[in-house]
Amino acid sequence: MSKQHTMIIGGGIVGCMTAMELINRGHRVTIVERNQIASQTSGESSWAGGGIIFPLLPWMYSEAVNTLTHNSASFYRELTQRLAQETGFSSDFAQSGFLLLPKFDLNAAQDWCKRNQVSFQPVKASAFGVASPSGDDGLWLPSVCQIRPPYLMQGLRKWLEQHNVAMLEHTQLKPLEESDELKAWQTTSGETLRADQFVVTSGAWSFDLLKETSAKLNIKPMRGQILLYKPAKNLEQMVYREGFYMIPRLDGYLLAGSTLEDVGFDNGVTEDVREELRIKAETIMPELKGEPIIKHWSGLRPGTPENLPTIGAHPTIKNLFLNTGHFRYGLTMAPASAKLVVAIMSGTLPAIDPTPYACAY
Ligand SMILES: Cc1cc2nc3c(=O)[nH]c(=O)nc-3n(C[C@H](O)[C@H](O)[C@H](O)COP(=O)(O)OP(=O)(O)OC[C@H]3O[C@@H](n4cnc5c(N)ncnc54)[C@H](O)[C@@H]3O)c2cc1C
Repeated sequence: MSKQHTMIIGGGIVGCMTAMELINRGHRVTIVERNQIASQTSGESSWAGGGIIFPLLPWMYSEAVNTLTHNSASFYRELTQRLAQETGFSSDFAQSGFLLLPKFDLNAAQDWCKRNQVSFQPVKASAFGVASPSGDDGLWLPSVCQIRPPYLMQGLRKWLEQHNVAMLEHTQLKPLEESDELKAWQTTSGETLRADQFVVTSGAWSFDLLKETSAKLNIKPMRGQILLYKPAKNLEQMVYREGFYMIPRLDGYLLAGSTLEDVGFDNGVTEDVREELRIKAETIMPELKGEPIIKHWSGLRPGTPENLPTIGAHPTIKNLFLNTGHFRYGLTMAPASAKLVVAIMSGTLPAIDPTPYACAY
């Protein structure tokens, strides 16, 4: 019997993890990517992301968001070990912990941690050697982990190649028209691509791709900018303060970000944000003053109201599935989100209740 052929549209973290899950279930898989998979020009958001495997201030989000991030985070240690063993690529997975600095709702944070069995410890920020101008009462979350998105993407690409996933790069699909059933999809250069089923994982571009169909996706690009340092002395843990975070890498680099900008599909960087991020970074770590900014980049997140992705069948077109709109937490959510969409596609019982992620007409 020939294998089911599934075509995935978009080769960011969500598309690549969906491909991995489909391969594990015995499918034949093709990824269509308008740029290049696992390169800075593609995975527009995935390559650019910070890689904290945890939501910032999770008590501010719905249970549906937290269920997905929590389930997903639990897969990461094993996933990154498997990628390292089978491909030789390390994802720089590290349990570096997360230090939350004021101002935030300390009571709500502790209640949430208790309810969700996330270990926490009220701490003095000064004990960690960081500056905290809004108060010294912080919260330490020692179990929070990070990965390095470009490394993870390279490992995933290699794994998918080893498992014969076809990669149609520099190939862009045209916006889809409404129909009862999908058997073929046109590219912008006039080719017709056929498969048994299709999964849209096109991040911030998903709305445009499906806007002529009945799927009412509320997704728009939300730009985030990040700075990169290599300080003489680095932080030992990830730090969050008032919407801003810093992530120390295993090899001595330090990320400082990010922004939430509603500027359409402009993925440029700006001088004013560079200055704003530099000041925020130096507020937490005064010793960064005078350290050069090595790199400054941006990515376009697939922004959605309340950070709720759409995962499931298209409401009217048979053979078409959606796994998109993960906004600020797509790196965190991708493994569980891939398992959920593939369970829905194969009619098996999903581990997570899919109802909150269903697509509306
Ligand atoms: C600055 C920043 C920091 C972040 N930090 C974190 C973090 O710490 N933790 C976390 O969990 N998340 C983080 N994120 C969010 C995370 O990066 C995203 O949620 C995630 O990458 C979304 O993945 P995706 O695969 O859906 O989208 P993308 O990575 O954008 O991939 C979509 C792909 O689809 C392709 N595509 C689009 N249209 C078409 C078409 N018509 N035909 C073919 N291909 C197409 C695009 O080229 C793109 O490669 C961050 C994001 C940014 C920008």
